[in-house]
Formats: sequence, structure tokens, C-alpha cells
Amino acid sequence: MEGVLSVVAGLLIGSFLNVCVYRLPRDMSVTWPGSRCTTCGHAIAWYENVPVVSYLLMRARCRHCRAGIAWRYPAVEAVTAALFLLGYLTWGPSAGAVKFAVFAALLVGMIVSDLETRILPDEFTKGGMAAGFVASFLVPIPDSVMAVFLPGVDRRVSSLVEAGVAAGLASGALWGVGVVYSKLREKEGLGFGDVKMVAMMGAFLGLPATLAAVMFGCIAGSVLGLGYIWATKKDAATYELPFGSFLGAAAIVVGLTSEGMLHWYRGM
Ligand SMILES: [Zn+2]
Repeated sequence: MEGVLSVVAGLLIGSFLNVCVYRLPRDMSVTWPGSRCTTCGHAIAWYENVPVVSYLLMRARCRHCRAGIAWRYPAVEAVTAALFLLGYLTWGPSAGAVKFAVFAALLVGMIVSDLETRILPDEFTKGGMAAGFVASFLVPIPDSVMAVFLPGVDRRVSSLVEAGVAAGLASGALWGVGVVYSKLREKEGLGFGDVKMVAMMGAFLGLPATLAAVMFGCIAGSVLGLGYIWATKKDAATYELPFGSFLGAAAIVVGLTSEGMLHWYRGM
């Protein structure tokens, strides 16, 4: 039953993320007006807005102007639902599953925003960092490194300290890399959005997992990004890589597997 609930919650949050991904980079309100066709402006009724189902029933077209609806809409809904379900299957009906769901939803929003507009909205990065600090206090980071350095301190407090240290170190390191890169190539390679994004990841994940996520994100971004530039013959000097999308995907994988890996490691 909780599994079904997590899928339904994921579909609804995914539907809201679609609104955020379209409107936040355009500085539009996410609450008003209600959903509209982006081509003809027709207000979308609730029965045209049922996640995934409406898209299939309307055969990917607006019922009024017949303009095509991007497959991104059902894809974001389905992926968010799948991640919520995976979180539930990993943590069971617990606060840990809710924490992961919040983290994953924010990352899905950033992955798609960066892919489509190369913008990581502050609502996701800064807002997500605030959410991460609250989450790290309420649901302490598993095997917090700071707990070792702060013996006798409440687990929630040491987890919050770790979230702060991870956010500061990860964003500081990435900012430093960006400064060196822009000096060397005389152009901006990393947006400040990416710096704020890794701070958000640090607030949720703590030190070791953030380090792993940034590392995987950089490797995947370099390999796949260069492969893409090569395959599509794009100009490497002007093509802007959606680095945040790679960081986000890596953070989801690490967030979902880090606890499982710790269990496996301790079992050895
Ligand atoms: Zn329309």
C-alpha cells in the first residue's frame, strides 16, 4: 500500500516539477496561473493533467490546437515516481525514504532545467540547500564522519555540522576549479549554479557521499560530454555542457546506493 502511495506521490510531484522546470527559468510564478498549453494558452483541465495517463490518452497533443506535447512531461512524472518507489523499497516506510524523495525530486528538477535551459534555478539550489540542512538535522546522515570528530555530541547536531562542512567544501572546491578554468581558457566554464548545486548535494549527503557524487558526475560529464561533442560534431569551444545534469544523476545514484554500500562494506 505504501508502495502505491509513493508512486502516486511521485507522479504528482513529477507533474509539479514539469511546471517548475518550464516556469522558474522564465521567472514565472509556479502557482498562478494554472497549467496552460504553451502553444495556444488554453487552460488545461484537471482531466487533461493526470500524470502520464492524459499524455497517452491525448496522444501527445493539445486537445485544442493539436500542438505536440513534449515527451519530457510524462518522462519526468514516470522517473520521479520510479525514484520515489526505489526510495520506499530501500528505506521502507520511514523518514529516510521521505528525505531521499525530497532530494531526488529537487535533483530531477535541476537535471531537466539544466538540460533544457542551462539554468539551475535558485529555488532548487538555494531552496534545496535549506531543505538539506533541515533534513540532515531531522534524519541524520548515516555514518556521519563528524560524529567521530565530535564524540558525545548529539547525532543530529554532528550531522548538521557535517552537512555544513560538506556544502562548504564541495562548493568551495568547485568554485576554485571554475576560477582556474576560466583563467586558463579565458571563458566561463562552470556556472555559479553548479557551485550552488553541489552545496545543496553536500547538505543532503554529507562528506563521503558528496565527494563520490561530484567525482562520478565529473567523470560522466567529461566522458559522455566529449563523446556527444565528437558524435554530433559540435564545436567544443562553444558547446555548453549541462554539467549540472551529470552531477544530479550521479547524486541520485550515490544517494540511493550509499547506505546499501555501507551495509555491504560492513558485512565484509
Ligand atoms: Zn494548445
